[in-house]
Amino acid sequence: MSRLFVSDVHLDAASPEAVEQFLAFLREQAAGAQALYILGDLFETWIGDDDPEPQKERVRAGLRTLTGSGVAVFILHGNRDFLIGRGFCESTGCRLIADPIISEFDGERILLTHGDALCTDDHSYQELRSIVRTPAWQRKFLALPIADRDMLANQARAGSKHHTSNTTPNIMDVNAEAVVAAFRATGVSRIIHGHTHRPGIHEIVIDDRRVQRIVLGAWYEEGSYLRYENGRYELLKLTR
Ligand code: MN
Repeated sequence: MSRLFVSDVHLDAASPEAVEQFLAFLREQAAGAQALYILGDLFETWIGDDDPEPQKERVRAGLRTLTGSGVAVFILHGNRDFLIGRGFCESTGCRLIADPIISEFDGERILLTHGDALCTDDHSYQELRSIVRTPAWQRKFLALPIADRDMLANQARAGSKHHTSNTTPNIMDVNAEAVVAAFRATGVSRIIHGHTHRPGIHEIVIDDRRVQRIVLGAWYEEGSYLRYENGRYELLKLTR
């Protein structure tokens, strides 16, 4: 049976067609898989598990149906939805996994990560990341009323758009040395990540070892996912 991987779905109430496409993906492709791995940024923003926003509730219901049918769904935090917590997992049956994490498929160890931590050239982003990932910051944020959290998330999103449009594209890609360091430190022969929105399969040789970095695509214009079965990886598109 297959394992499917997605990231950067960026689900948002402002793009109902993407929500529909993701729900159809859960019913059609994911329902026939052994497991689905969501490698970060499933949502454009996540302001807490107690947010009653209706499109988010529909996505939760779709995931609940999928896990209820016996498909294992693993999710790790992206830079947009790092506040996904226990409440989300309880209501969907998804299992929250650490970023990064090493998984084993058919005897091969693979590193799964969102990918933002590999973008070490983007110093201002890494500085922000180190603040918002602290328990103290998150406790303070989650204690605010939902309307305030919503407003702050929209401000952060506007700030992020401004930053990405004013930063050289290469700076927002993964840093080659950070990638080599990750392969060396873990000894894996494959890394699967998203975040950069540059889908592709890259072959690299490190210390005479042939390794592979698979990058998942974003869902802004169309859906995409990675399918693994019997030692073979395939990047696939879903037209909208
Ligand atoms: Mn991201």
